[in-house]
Amino acid sequence: RPKKPTPPEIPTEQPSPDRRETQVPVMREKVDLLAQKLVRIKHEQDNRLFPMLHVDKDFIDELSVPWKDALIVKLSGNECGFDGMKRNLDGQWGLAGEFDLLDIGNGFFVVKFNSEEDKTKVIKGIPWDIYGHHLLIRQWTQTFNAKPETIEKTMSWVRIVSLNLVYHDESFLWAIASAIGIPIEVDLDALRVERGRFARVCVEIDMNKPVVRSVGINGEWYEVQYEGLCVCQHCSCYGHCLRDCTYRPS
Ligand SMILES: [Zn+2]
Repeated sequence: RPKKPTPPEIPTEQPSPDRRETQVPVMREKVDLLAQKLVRIKHEQDNRLFPMLHVDKDFIDELSVPWKDALIVKLSGNECGFDGMKRNLDGQWGLAGEFDLLDIGNGFFVVKFNSEEDKTKVIKGIPWDIYGHHLLIRQWTQTFNAKPETIEKTMSWVRIVSLNLVYHDESFLWAIASAIGIPIEVDLDALRVERGRFARVCVEIDMNKPVVRSVGINGEWYEVQYEGLCVCQHCSCYGHCLRDCTYRPS
């Protein structure tokens, strides 16, 4: 009997050869955005000193393409220069490929990875500590603004303790992660039944707000534990201990 022909291999997306060298987005053809109504200028309170640009959403999406997989990092409680940050990340992460680091001010850096594997390795390795300082890692977003008062967000791995095995399902854990923060990743290794003491998801959380300590499913409550850093017993915020709590009455 003739062997069944094997299906053709699905071509995997290969990065273009020049991608490694391309640090900045490819120069676009110059167009008049105002004439095309992709950008409109309006003045707040009709005051010419407060011009507000209203930018077309699709246009921003187009501009965002080179950045959508980037991460934003910051060393908590310590402003680190470009050279220091680059050296530290190189040393800590030990990635196979290159990554671009861009200083965007106030201690924030954008990291652009050349490979998806390297980005996954960095996320899997959370938390990263550099000389006793926690490395905050968050997703790049269109609206991110590296102002000093920017609320600190970070990715964290969380465990849902004693979760009924029936719920150890990637899609369902993604839904649970959405109830805790912004879902980033589900730990598929932790899904194996032999390690079924807890389920593990990576979420992005706001460090200045109390974190979710328990999650309920159809009336049953499950404890949520944050890996790597303490959650304050007083204010339930992530990233500082009780003795460092600024909300605690003195
Ligand atoms: Zn606190």
